[in-house]
Amino acid sequence: YTETGSQWNVAELEGAAHRHLISPAEELAKLGTSGGRPLFTSADGIHVRDSHGRTLIDGPGGMWCTQVGYGSKPIADAIAAQALRICYNSPWYSISGPAAELARRISSFAPGDLNHVFFTTGGSSAVDSALRFVQFYNNVLGRPTKKKIICRIDGYHGSSHLTAACSGRAGNRPNFDLELDTVSFISAPNIYRHPQGKSEAAFLEFLVAEFEERIAALKPENVGAFLAEPILASGGVIIPPKGYHRRILETCRKHDILYISDEVVTGFGRCGHWFASEEVFDIVPDIITFAKGVTSGYVPLGGFVLSESVLAKISGENAKGSFYTNGYTYSGHPVSCAAALANIGVIEDQDLLAHVREITPYFQEQLAKLRELPLVGDVRGVGLLGCVECATDPTSEAATDFDRQVALRIDRQCYENGLVVRPIGSMCVLSPALIITRPQIDEMVSILRESIVRVQAEIRAEGKF
Ligand code: PLP
Repeated sequence: YTETGSQWNVAELEGAAHRHLISPAEELAKLGTSGGRPLFTSADGIHVRDSHGRTLIDGPGGMWCTQVGYGSKPIADAIAAQALRICYNSPWYSISGPAAELARRISSFAPGDLNHVFFTTGGSSAVDSALRFVQFYNNVLGRPTKKKIICRIDGYHGSSHLTAACSGRAGNRPNFDLELDTVSFISAPNIYRHPQGKSEAAFLEFLVAEFEERIAALKPENVGAFLAEPILASGGVIIPPKGYHRRILETCRKHDILYISDEVVTGFGRCGHWFASEEVFDIVPDIITFAKGVTSGYVPLGGFVLSESVLAKISGENAKGSFYTNGYTYSGHPVSCAAALANIGVIEDQDLLAHVREITPYFQEQLAKLRELPLVGDVRGVGLLGCVECATDPTSEAATDFDRQVALRIDRQCYENGLVVRPIGSMCVLSPALIITRPQIDEMVSILRESIVRVQAEIRAEGKF
Protein backbone atom coordinates (compact mmCIF):
# COMPACT_ATOMS: atom_id res chain seq x y z
CA TYR A 1 0.00 0.00 0.00
CA THR A 2 0.93 3.60 -0.45
CA GLU A 3 -0.16 5.92 2.33
CA THR A 4 -3.61 6.30 0.83
CA GLY A 5 -3.95 2.71 -0.24
CA SER A 6 -4.61 3.95 -3.75
CA GLN A 7 -1.82 1.98 -5.39
CA TRP A 8 -3.93 -1.15 -5.21
CA ASN A 9 -7.22 -1.69 -6.86
CA VAL A 10 -9.62 -2.40 -4.01
CA ALA A 11 -12.03 -4.46 -6.10
CA GLU A 12 -9.12 -6.64 -7.25
CA LEU A 13 -7.92 -7.08 -3.69
CA GLU A 14 -11.38 -8.09 -2.51
CA GLY A 15 -11.54 -10.54 -5.39
CA ALA A 16 -8.13 -11.95 -4.43
CA ALA A 17 -9.28 -12.35 -0.83
CA HIS A 18 -12.44 -14.16 -1.91
CA ARG A 19 -10.54 -16.51 -4.17
CA HIS A 20 -7.38 -17.15 -2.14
CA LEU A 21 -7.49 -16.00 1.47
CA ILE A 22 -8.59 -18.11 4.42
CA SER A 23 -9.17 -15.99 7.53
CA PRO A 24 -9.50 -17.10 11.15
CA ALA A 25 -13.09 -18.15 11.94
CA GLU A 26 -13.83 -18.41 8.25
CA GLU A 27 -17.42 -19.44 7.61
CA LEU A 28 -16.69 -22.03 4.95
CA ALA A 29 -20.21 -22.13 3.52
CA LYS A 30 -19.67 -18.53 2.48
CA LEU A 31 -16.10 -18.89 1.23
CA GLY A 32 -15.60 -16.86 -1.92
CA THR A 33 -18.73 -14.78 -1.53
CA SER A 34 -18.73 -11.04 -1.13
CA GLY A 35 -20.16 -8.92 1.65
CA GLY A 36 -18.07 -10.45 4.41
CA ARG A 37 -15.27 -8.68 6.19
CA PRO A 38 -14.33 -5.08 5.60
CA LEU A 39 -10.98 -4.23 4.03
CA PHE A 40 -9.17 -1.70 6.20
CA THR A 41 -6.74 0.41 4.24
CA SER A 42 -5.25 2.84 6.75
CA ALA A 43 -5.53 3.91 10.36
CA ASP A 44 -4.61 6.69 12.71
CA GLY A 45 -4.94 7.02 16.49
CA ILE A 46 -8.15 5.21 17.53
CA HIS A 47 -9.59 5.23 13.99
CA VAL A 48 -9.47 2.85 11.03
CA ARG A 49 -10.43 3.66 7.46
CA ASP A 50 -12.07 1.12 5.18
CA SER A 51 -11.87 0.59 1.42
CA HIS A 52 -15.03 2.68 0.93
CA GLY A 53 -13.26 5.64 2.51
CA ARG A 54 -15.26 5.44 5.71
CA THR A 55 -13.51 6.38 8.97
CA LEU A 56 -14.59 4.44 12.03
CA ILE A 57 -13.66 4.29 15.72
CA ASP A 58 -11.92 0.99 16.32
CA GLY A 59 -13.91 -0.24 19.34
CA PRO A 60 -12.02 -3.50 19.94
CA GLY A 61 -8.62 -1.84 19.39
CA GLY A 62 -7.73 -4.35 16.67
CA MET A 63 -8.09 -7.41 18.87
CA TRP A 64 -7.42 -5.88 22.30
CA CYS A 65 -3.97 -4.89 21.15
CA THR A 66 -3.56 -1.40 19.66
CA GLN A 67 -2.54 0.16 22.99
CA VAL A 68 -0.78 3.34 21.80
CA GLY A 69 -3.02 3.66 18.75
CA TYR A 70 -2.32 3.52 15.06
CA GLY A 71 0.34 5.52 13.23
CA SER A 72 2.96 5.79 15.98
CA LYS A 73 6.08 7.20 14.37
CA PRO A 74 8.48 6.19 17.18
CA ILE A 75 7.42 2.55 16.79
CA ALA A 76 7.53 2.62 12.99
CA ASP A 77 10.97 4.28 13.11
CA ALA A 78 12.29 1.72 15.60
CA ILE A 79 11.07 -1.11 13.36
CA ALA A 80 12.75 0.42 10.29
CA ALA A 81 15.99 1.19 12.13
CA GLN A 82 16.28 -2.31 13.57
CA ALA A 83 15.44 -3.93 10.22
CA LEU A 84 18.33 -2.02 8.68
CA ARG A 85 20.74 -2.55 11.60
CA ILE A 86 20.24 -6.31 11.88
CA CYS A 87 16.88 -7.75 10.92
CA TYR A 88 17.44 -11.21 12.29
CA ASN A 89 19.68 -13.35 14.44
CA SER A 90 19.12 -16.96 15.41
CA PRO A 91 18.11 -17.18 19.06
CA TRP A 92 19.27 -20.81 19.02
CA TYR A 93 22.93 -19.76 19.12
CA SER A 94 23.08 -15.96 19.46
CA ILE A 95 21.57 -13.09 21.43
CA SER A 96 19.72 -10.05 20.13
CA GLY A 97 20.32 -6.73 21.88
CA PRO A 98 16.65 -5.69 21.76
CA ALA A 99 15.59 -9.09 23.20
CA ALA A 100 18.05 -8.76 26.10
CA GLU A 101 16.95 -5.21 26.88
CA LEU A 102 13.26 -6.08 26.55
CA ALA A 103 13.69 -9.06 28.90
CA ARG A 104 15.25 -6.66 31.42
CA ARG A 105 12.39 -4.17 31.07
CA ILE A 106 9.65 -6.80 31.33
CA SER A 107 11.35 -8.33 34.39
CA SER A 108 11.31 -4.90 36.01
CA PHE A 109 7.53 -4.58 35.48
CA ALA A 110 6.63 -8.12 36.50
CA PRO A 111 5.57 -8.81 40.08
CA GLY A 112 7.48 -10.75 42.76
CA ASP A 113 10.49 -12.72 41.59
CA LEU A 114 9.23 -13.14 38.00
CA ASN A 115 12.43 -12.10 36.26
CA HIS A 116 13.24 -14.45 33.38
CA VAL A 117 11.56 -13.98 30.02
CA PHE A 118 11.08 -16.44 27.17
CA PHE A 119 9.99 -14.84 23.89
CA THR A 120 7.63 -16.36 21.34
CA THR A 121 5.75 -15.20 18.26
CA GLY A 122 2.33 -14.36 19.75
CA GLY A 123 -0.18 -15.33 22.41
CA SER A 124 -0.80 -18.95 21.45
CA SER A 125 2.90 -19.70 21.32
CA ALA A 126 3.38 -17.86 24.62
CA VAL A 127 0.80 -19.99 26.45
CA ASP A 128 1.88 -23.14 24.62
CA SER A 129 5.50 -22.53 25.67
CA ALA A 130 4.48 -21.88 29.27
CA LEU A 131 2.48 -25.11 29.36
CA ARG A 132 5.34 -27.04 27.78
CA PHE A 133 7.59 -25.49 30.41
CA VAL A 134 5.34 -26.95 33.14
CA GLN A 135 5.56 -30.41 31.56
CA PHE A 136 9.33 -30.09 31.16
CA TYR A 137 9.71 -28.80 34.73
CA ASN A 138 7.87 -31.74 36.25
CA ASN A 139 9.78 -34.23 34.10
CA VAL A 140 13.11 -32.75 35.19
CA LEU A 141 11.90 -32.85 38.80
CA GLY A 142 11.13 -36.55 38.40
CA ARG A 143 7.35 -36.09 38.69
CA PRO A 144 6.21 -37.41 35.32
CA THR A 145 2.54 -37.70 36.30
CA LYS A 146 2.14 -34.08 37.47
CA LYS A 147 0.85 -32.85 34.11
CA LYS A 148 -2.87 -32.12 34.18
CA ILE A 149 -3.80 -28.54 33.43
CA ILE A 150 -6.88 -27.15 35.12
CA CYS A 151 -8.60 -24.39 33.15
CA ARG A 152 -12.00 -22.76 32.94
CA ILE A 153 -15.04 -23.12 30.71
CA ASP A 154 -15.24 -20.03 28.46
CA GLY A 155 -11.49 -19.34 28.77
CA TYR A 156 -9.48 -18.67 25.62
CA HIS A 157 -5.76 -19.35 25.38
CA GLY A 158 -4.98 -19.77 21.70
CA SER A 159 -5.03 -21.84 18.55
CA SER A 160 -2.12 -24.25 18.96
CA HIS A 161 -2.95 -27.89 19.65
CA LEU A 162 -2.40 -27.59 23.38
CA THR A 163 -3.77 -24.09 23.93
CA ALA A 164 -6.90 -24.93 21.90
CA ALA A 165 -7.42 -27.93 24.18
CA CYS A 166 -7.18 -25.57 27.18
CA SER A 167 -9.72 -23.16 25.71
CA GLY A 168 -13.22 -23.75 27.00
CA ARG A 169 -15.21 -21.71 24.49
CA ALA A 170 -17.74 -24.08 22.96
CA GLY A 171 -17.84 -22.22 19.65
CA ASN A 172 -14.17 -22.99 18.91
CA ARG A 173 -14.54 -26.73 19.28
CA PRO A 174 -16.71 -28.32 16.56
CA ASN A 175 -14.79 -30.47 14.04
CA PHE A 176 -11.42 -30.10 15.76
CA ASP A 177 -9.58 -32.89 17.55
CA LEU A 178 -8.55 -31.74 20.99
CA GLU A 179 -6.01 -33.29 23.35
CA LEU A 180 -8.44 -33.23 26.23
CA ASP A 181 -6.67 -35.94 28.25
CA THR A 182 -4.27 -33.34 29.61
CA VAL A 183 -6.96 -30.83 30.52
CA SER A 184 -9.65 -30.57 33.18
CA PHE A 185 -12.25 -27.80 33.09
CA ILE A 186 -13.86 -26.03 36.01
CA SER A 187 -16.67 -23.44 35.93
CA ALA A 188 -16.30 -19.98 34.46
CA PRO A 189 -16.44 -17.47 37.33
CA ASN A 190 -19.41 -15.80 35.65
CA ILE A 191 -21.60 -14.09 38.20
CA TYR A 192 -24.10 -12.87 35.62
CA ARG A 193 -24.77 -16.33 34.20
CA HIS A 194 -24.37 -18.26 37.40
CA PRO A 195 -27.46 -20.48 37.58
CA GLN A 196 -27.57 -20.77 41.35
CA GLY A 197 -28.23 -17.05 41.76
CA LYS A 198 -25.91 -16.90 44.77
CA SER A 199 -24.31 -13.85 46.29
CA GLU A 200 -20.81 -13.00 45.09
CA ALA A 201 -19.29 -14.32 48.33
CA ALA A 202 -21.26 -17.58 48.16
CA PHE A 203 -20.38 -17.98 44.50
CA LEU A 204 -16.70 -17.56 45.37
CA GLU A 205 -16.97 -20.36 47.94
CA PHE A 206 -18.63 -22.56 45.34
CA LEU A 207 -15.81 -21.91 42.84
CA VAL A 208 -13.01 -22.53 45.34
CA ALA A 209 -14.68 -25.70 46.59
CA GLU A 210 -15.09 -26.92 43.02
CA PHE A 211 -11.37 -26.32 42.37
CA GLU A 212 -10.34 -28.14 45.54
CA GLU A 213 -12.65 -31.04 44.79
CA ARG A 214 -11.26 -31.30 41.28
CA ILE A 215 -7.68 -31.45 42.55
CA ALA A 216 -8.69 -34.11 45.05
CA ALA A 217 -10.42 -36.13 42.32
CA LEU A 218 -7.43 -35.89 39.97
CA LYS A 219 -4.97 -36.24 42.89
CA PRO A 220 -2.46 -33.42 43.46
CA GLU A 221 0.43 -35.52 42.16
CA ASN A 222 -1.28 -35.48 38.75
CA VAL A 223 -1.97 -31.74 38.52
CA GLY A 224 0.79 -29.54 37.08
CA ALA A 225 -0.79 -26.17 36.45
CA PHE A 226 -3.78 -23.90 36.75
CA LEU A 227 -4.13 -21.68 33.68
CA ALA A 228 -6.35 -18.59 33.79
CA GLU A 229 -6.90 -15.19 32.28
CA PRO A 230 -7.37 -12.62 35.08
CA ILE A 231 -10.54 -11.61 33.21
CA LEU A 232 -11.90 -14.08 30.68
CA ALA A 233 -11.66 -11.82 27.66
CA SER A 234 -12.90 -13.60 24.52
CA GLY A 235 -15.20 -15.66 26.71
CA GLY A 236 -17.20 -12.46 27.29
CA VAL A 237 -15.28 -10.13 29.63
CA ILE A 238 -16.08 -12.32 32.62
CA ILE A 239 -14.88 -10.76 35.85
CA PRO A 240 -14.46 -13.22 38.72
CA PRO A 241 -15.79 -12.58 42.23
CA LYS A 242 -13.51 -10.49 44.41
CA GLY A 243 -10.71 -12.56 45.95
CA TYR A 244 -11.09 -15.41 43.43
CA HIS A 245 -7.55 -15.41 42.06
CA ARG A 246 -6.01 -15.12 45.51
CA ARG A 247 -8.00 -18.06 46.88
CA ILE A 248 -7.23 -20.20 43.84
CA LEU A 249 -3.53 -19.32 44.10
CA GLU A 250 -3.49 -20.32 47.79
CA THR A 251 -4.95 -23.68 46.83
CA CYS A 252 -2.32 -24.08 44.09
CA ARG A 253 0.46 -23.35 46.58
CA LYS A 254 -0.91 -26.01 48.96
CA HIS A 255 -0.58 -28.65 46.25
CA ASP A 256 2.58 -27.42 44.47
CA ILE A 257 0.59 -26.55 41.35
CA LEU A 258 2.01 -23.79 39.14
CA TYR A 259 -0.27 -20.83 38.54
CA ILE A 260 -0.09 -19.40 34.99
CA SER A 261 -1.74 -16.02 34.61
CA ASP A 262 -2.54 -15.48 30.93
CA GLU A 263 -2.17 -11.72 30.54
CA VAL A 264 -2.21 -11.69 26.75
CA VAL A 265 -5.17 -9.29 26.94
CA THR A 266 -4.85 -7.69 30.38
CA GLY A 267 -1.12 -6.87 30.12
CA PHE A 268 0.59 -3.73 28.85
CA GLY A 269 -1.78 -1.14 30.15
CA ARG A 270 -5.24 -2.48 29.38
CA CYS A 271 -6.07 -2.38 33.10
CA GLY A 272 -3.87 0.64 33.89
CA HIS A 273 -0.74 -1.35 34.83
CA TRP A 274 1.99 -3.20 32.97
CA PHE A 275 0.49 -6.40 34.33
CA ALA A 276 -2.82 -6.80 36.14
CA SER A 277 -2.07 -9.93 38.20
CA GLU A 278 -0.69 -8.22 41.28
CA GLU A 279 -1.91 -4.63 40.97
CA VAL A 280 -5.54 -5.43 40.10
CA PHE A 281 -6.05 -9.04 41.22
CA ASP A 282 -3.69 -9.26 44.18
CA ILE A 283 -1.67 -12.29 43.11
CA VAL A 284 1.91 -13.06 42.22
CA PRO A 285 1.58 -16.07 39.93
CA ASP A 286 4.46 -18.36 38.91
CA ILE A 287 4.25 -17.50 35.23
CA ILE A 288 2.69 -14.60 33.31
CA THR A 289 2.09 -14.92 29.57
CA PHE A 290 1.89 -11.81 27.39
CA ALA A 291 1.52 -10.82 23.70
CA LYS A 292 -0.72 -8.32 21.85
CA GLY A 293 -0.16 -5.00 23.70
CA VAL A 294 3.57 -5.67 24.12
CA THR A 295 4.03 -4.21 20.62
CA SER A 296 0.63 -2.45 20.38
CA GLY A 297 0.00 -4.85 17.49
CA TYR A 298 2.65 -3.30 15.23
CA VAL A 299 4.47 -6.63 14.79
CA PRO A 300 3.92 -10.08 16.29
CA LEU A 301 5.53 -10.92 19.63
CA GLY A 302 4.64 -12.86 22.75
CA GLY A 303 6.32 -14.57 25.63
CA PHE A 304 6.19 -15.59 29.24
CA VAL A 305 7.91 -14.29 32.33
CA LEU A 306 8.87 -16.86 34.90
CA SER A 307 9.53 -16.89 38.64
CA GLU A 308 13.18 -17.16 39.62
CA SER A 309 12.43 -19.57 42.46
CA VAL A 310 10.57 -21.93 40.08
CA LEU A 311 13.38 -21.74 37.53
CA ALA A 312 16.00 -22.35 40.24
CA LYS A 313 14.50 -25.78 40.92
CA ILE A 314 15.52 -27.01 37.47
CA SER A 315 18.50 -24.83 36.55
CA GLY A 316 22.14 -24.62 37.62
CA GLU A 317 23.06 -27.56 39.77
CA ASN A 318 19.43 -28.78 39.63
CA ALA A 319 19.31 -28.93 35.82
CA LYS A 320 20.27 -32.60 35.53
CA GLY A 321 21.71 -31.95 32.07
CA SER A 322 18.39 -30.77 30.66
CA PHE A 323 17.88 -28.38 27.73
CA TYR A 324 14.60 -26.46 27.35
CA THR A 325 14.43 -27.19 23.64
CA ASN A 326 11.03 -25.53 23.13
CA GLY A 327 11.55 -22.49 20.91
CA TYR A 328 11.07 -20.73 17.63
CA THR A 329 13.14 -19.36 14.76
CA TYR A 330 11.67 -16.01 15.71
CA SER A 331 11.98 -16.20 19.52
CA GLY A 332 13.18 -12.76 20.59
CA HIS A 333 13.05 -11.42 17.04
CA PRO A 334 15.12 -8.22 17.05
CA VAL A 335 12.64 -6.18 15.02
CA SER A 336 9.70 -7.25 17.21
CA CYS A 337 11.66 -6.59 20.39
CA ALA A 338 12.77 -3.17 19.10
CA ALA A 339 9.10 -2.39 18.37
CA ALA A 340 8.17 -3.47 21.91
CA LEU A 341 10.87 -1.26 23.44
CA ALA A 342 9.64 1.70 21.40
CA ASN A 343 6.06 0.87 22.42
CA ILE A 344 7.07 0.86 26.09
CA GLY A 345 8.78 4.20 25.47
CA VAL A 346 5.58 5.68 24.03
CA ILE A 347 3.49 4.34 26.92
CA GLU A 348 5.94 5.95 29.36
CA ASP A 349 6.34 9.25 27.48
CA GLN A 350 2.57 9.70 27.23
CA ASP A 351 2.01 8.40 30.78
CA LEU A 352 -0.63 6.06 29.38
CA LEU A 353 -0.86 3.79 32.43
CA ALA A 354 -1.90 6.78 34.55
CA HIS A 355 -4.22 7.93 31.75
CA VAL A 356 -5.98 4.54 31.72
CA ARG A 357 -6.39 4.59 35.50
CA GLU A 358 -7.77 8.12 35.31
CA ILE A 359 -10.18 7.56 32.43
CA THR A 360 -11.37 4.06 33.37
CA PRO A 361 -14.14 5.17 35.78
CA TYR A 362 -15.54 7.48 33.11
CA PHE A 363 -15.45 4.75 30.45
CA GLN A 364 -17.11 2.21 32.73
CA GLU A 365 -19.75 4.72 33.95
CA GLN A 366 -20.73 5.72 30.41
CA LEU A 367 -20.95 2.09 29.37
CA ALA A 368 -22.96 1.17 32.49
CA LYS A 369 -25.65 3.70 31.50
CA LEU A 370 -26.57 1.37 28.62
CA ARG A 371 -27.94 -1.04 31.20
CA GLU A 372 -31.16 1.00 31.22
CA LEU A 373 -31.95 -0.21 27.68
CA PRO A 374 -34.37 -3.15 27.78
CA LEU A 375 -32.26 -5.17 25.32
CA VAL A 376 -29.19 -4.99 27.54
CA GLY A 377 -28.89 -7.81 30.06
CA ASP A 378 -25.57 -6.85 31.62
CA VAL A 379 -22.72 -4.37 31.32
CA ARG A 380 -19.34 -5.10 32.87
CA GLY A 381 -15.67 -4.34 32.52
CA VAL A 382 -12.31 -3.59 34.07
CA GLY A 383 -9.89 -0.92 32.87
CA LEU A 384 -10.40 -0.06 29.21
CA LEU A 385 -12.13 -3.35 28.61
CA GLY A 386 -15.90 -3.45 28.56
CA CYS A 387 -18.79 -5.56 27.39
CA VAL A 388 -22.50 -5.07 26.81
CA GLU A 389 -24.41 -8.32 26.85
CA CYS A 390 -27.71 -8.56 24.98
CA ALA A 391 -30.49 -10.58 26.60
CA THR A 392 -33.78 -10.83 24.73
CA ASP A 393 -35.13 -13.32 27.25
CA PRO A 394 -34.23 -12.33 30.83
CA THR A 395 -35.48 -15.68 32.14
CA SER A 396 -33.00 -17.67 30.06
CA GLU A 397 -29.92 -18.93 31.95
CA ALA A 398 -27.76 -18.91 28.82
CA ALA A 399 -27.49 -16.65 25.81
CA THR A 400 -29.90 -17.72 23.06
CA ASP A 401 -29.31 -17.95 19.31
CA PHE A 402 -31.53 -14.93 18.95
CA ASP A 403 -29.35 -12.97 21.43
CA ARG A 404 -26.37 -13.74 19.21
CA GLN A 405 -28.24 -12.64 16.05
CA VAL A 406 -29.21 -9.43 17.81
CA ALA A 407 -25.58 -8.71 18.77
CA LEU A 408 -24.60 -9.17 15.13
CA ARG A 409 -27.30 -6.76 14.04
CA ILE A 410 -26.07 -4.21 16.57
CA ASP A 411 -22.55 -4.72 15.25
CA ARG A 412 -23.70 -4.00 11.69
CA GLN A 413 -25.64 -0.96 12.81
CA CYS A 414 -22.62 0.36 14.71
CA TYR A 415 -20.51 -0.05 11.59
CA GLU A 416 -23.03 1.98 9.61
CA ASN A 417 -22.83 4.65 12.32
CA GLY A 418 -19.02 4.77 12.43
CA LEU A 419 -17.95 2.29 15.11
CA VAL A 420 -16.33 -1.11 14.79
CA VAL A 421 -17.63 -3.44 17.52
CA ARG A 422 -16.56 -6.97 17.98
CA PRO A 423 -19.56 -9.16 18.64
CA ILE A 424 -18.61 -12.22 20.64
CA GLY A 425 -21.71 -14.35 20.86
CA SER A 426 -24.37 -12.15 22.45
CA MET A 427 -21.83 -9.56 23.58
CA CYS A 428 -20.59 -6.29 22.15
CA VAL A 429 -17.04 -5.90 23.39
CA LEU A 430 -15.02 -2.70 23.55
CA SER A 431 -11.29 -2.39 24.25
CA PRO A 432 -10.19 0.79 22.50
CA ALA A 433 -6.64 2.09 22.20
CA LEU A 434 -5.40 3.40 25.55
CA ILE A 435 -5.00 6.92 24.17
CA ILE A 436 -8.78 7.37 23.94
CA THR A 437 -10.12 10.68 25.27
CA ARG A 438 -13.40 11.48 27.07
CA PRO A 439 -15.05 13.02 23.98
CA GLN A 440 -14.06 9.92 22.00
CA ILE A 441 -15.54 7.68 24.71
CA ASP A 442 -18.75 9.76 24.50
CA GLU A 443 -18.85 9.32 20.74
CA MET A 444 -18.18 5.58 20.95
CA VAL A 445 -20.82 4.93 23.61
CA SER A 446 -23.36 7.16 21.91
CA ILE A 447 -22.99 5.25 18.62
CA LEU A 448 -23.40 2.00 20.52
CA ARG A 449 -26.50 3.36 22.30
CA GLU A 450 -28.12 4.60 19.08
CA SER A 451 -27.44 1.28 17.41
CA ILE A 452 -28.89 -0.76 20.27
CA VAL A 453 -31.98 1.49 20.38
CA ARG A 454 -32.47 1.08 16.64
CA VAL A 455 -32.13 -2.72 16.68
CA GLN A 456 -34.37 -2.87 19.75
CA ALA A 457 -37.06 -0.95 17.86
CA GLU A 458 -36.65 -3.17 14.79
CA ILE A 459 -37.02 -6.44 16.64
CA ARG A 460 -40.00 -5.02 18.54
CA ALA A 461 -41.60 -4.11 15.23
CA GLU A 462 -40.89 -7.66 14.04
CA GLY A 463 -42.74 -8.93 17.14
CA LYS A 464 -39.62 -10.72 18.41
CA PHE A 465 -38.97 -8.71 21.57
N1 PLP B 1 -4.51 -15.85 25.42
C1 PLP B 1 -5.52 -14.97 25.47
C2 PLP B 1 -6.06 -14.56 26.80
C3 PLP B 1 -6.05 -14.44 24.29
O1 PLP B 1 -7.09 -13.59 24.34
C4 PLP B 1 -5.48 -14.83 23.06
C5 PLP B 1 -6.01 -14.28 21.79
O2 PLP B 1 -6.97 -13.57 21.72
C6 PLP B 1 -4.44 -15.76 23.06
C7 PLP B 1 -3.96 -16.23 24.25
C8 PLP B 1 -3.84 -16.21 21.77
O3 PLP B 1 -3.07 -15.19 21.22
P1 PLP B 1 -2.68 -15.19 19.66
O4 PLP B 1 -3.95 -15.01 18.90
O5 PLP B 1 -1.73 -14.03 19.55
O6 PLP B 1 -2.02 -16.47 19.35
